[in-house]
Amino acid sequence: MHYKSNNSKDIVETTLDPANWNLFREQAHILLDACISKLENARDYPWTPVDKNYTEKISLADVDTARSVEDVVSDLINDVLPNATGNTHPCFFGWVHGTGLTSGLLAEIVSATMNSNCGGRDHGAIYVEREVIDWCKRTFGFPESSSGVLVTGTSQATLIALCVARTKALGLKSRYEGIYNHPKLTCYASAGTHSAVKKALEVLGHGSESLRLIRNRNDSGIDCLHLESQIIKDINDGYQPFCVIGTAGYVDHGGFDSIDGLVSICNNYNIWLHIDGAFGIWAKLAGKPWSDFLYGLENVDSIAFDFHKWMYLQYDCGAVLIKDGDAHKSTFAIRPDYLKPNSVGLGGGDPWFCDYGVDLSRGFKALKIWTALREHGSKKLGLQIRKNCNLALMMADLLDSSDNLRLVCPIKLNICCFTVLKNNLSDDNIDWINEQVAQTLQIKYGIVLSTTKINGRVVLRAAITNHRTTTDDIVNTVNSASIIADLLIRNMSKT
Ligand SMILES: *Cc1c(COP(=O)(O)O)cnc(C)c1O
Repeated sequence: MHYKSNNSKDIVETTLDPANWNLFREQAHILLDACISKLENARDYPWTPVDKNYTEKISLADVDTARSVEDVVSDLINDVLPNATGNTHPCFFGWVHGTGLTSGLLAEIVSATMNSNCGGRDHGAIYVEREVIDWCKRTFGFPESSSGVLVTGTSQATLIALCVARTKALGLKSRYEGIYNHPKLTCYASAGTHSAVKKALEVLGHGSESLRLIRNRNDSGIDCLHLESQIIKDINDGYQPFCVIGTAGYVDHGGFDSIDGLVSICNNYNIWLHIDGAFGIWAKLAGKPWSDFLYGLENVDSIAFDFHKWMYLQYDCGAVLIKDGDAHKSTFAIRPDYLKPNSVGLGGGDPWFCDYGVDLSRGFKALKIWTALREHGSKKLGLQIRKNCNLALMMADLLDSSDNLRLVCPIKLNICCFTVLKNNLSDDNIDWINEQVAQTLQIKYGIVLSTTKINGRVVLRAAITNHRTTTDDIVNTVNSASIIADLLIRNMSKT
């Protein structure tokens, strides 16, 4: 029995497209102008606390009925747009935030218009993603037979890489049988490894205790001797070491592991070598001396990296590359009847990106990478990365001659960690003052630094992944931090 409508009014003959296209066009242009002005005047828009009544303004409590496009555009311009993270501002140096590019704005307009599903099939957006992945392979010295896929970020890229490494270690059957009836797997990274690695191991069912934390050499990279002795110990104890995770650009201080050192250990013990290069991988484009940190990169098994950090692209956009493209595909590919590949037509084409990761339906992230590369070219992007490294060195020089601030570890890349000088105060007091300096800079000066711990103490941290930053901004940041520190120290000495 078919369902029979006994009331033809059940079918409304309207769509969700605008009833009045001219009005939509006019409003869209107004919105676009507001967005361009915001980027053009990025210096006027630091992070600010969200508006007082923001939650009320954006509430979805009463959305049963439609609003006009004028109202929606007005809400976007007046409520949403002003309450941003502030990382488009030239003095944003907190965590590792990218700034965004105007080319990204163009790309987002087109990808929203096309609304392509990049899970697979034979259409133009997929070809663009393939071009982007091929560019990544060439840039990092990976062969044509390697594979890659765009993902939300390095966290997901890490999950995918470790999953391929695990499946290769246990055999393809582990896809169906799970990871039981095998020796316990172990993997290795230095103590400074990003939390994304632990999270990936937890999600994959190995638990973060399967991660052996290896000592660092004095100031930066992993201690390869300690790594090797831990691997030998684990093998003797009946574990199966399956992956070493090296870091190219530690989030705390920007240091690097010796990729070459890791390659030789991993080759000796037949262990997968994955590199977390979330932001640091782009030192590759900065030229010497920074590109030297990546010596040996073409010999690793997988790389995870972000475009949304130090390639300045809009969120979200990361990637994973896997040297053994077949292992990558066999770990994730699954084609039930409704996804059967065809030889011709929209259902054709190969590869399909859904075969290389967790997502089936996927957006057109590749376009913002493509527009950035087309508009600026990789050389100009590399020069910006180089500029950021040099700005970090300049910040270090200013700190050296500051009355009350000091660098706490040498600059390796684009990250500058510093502290307020002791002035007879306790370590705990200095920790507190450093926190206060960061908060005051954010709230009163529109300058965003974050904090971390180095050698157990709180430090101020500037990660310069910002193409809008000028030398004046660096001077202003150090001077402002110094003024705030002075006040705080004087107040504290009084009490
Ligand atoms: C940011 C970062 C990650 C996580 O990347 P997301 O893109 O935020 O998922 C992993 N490792 C390092 C070194 C990072 O800086």
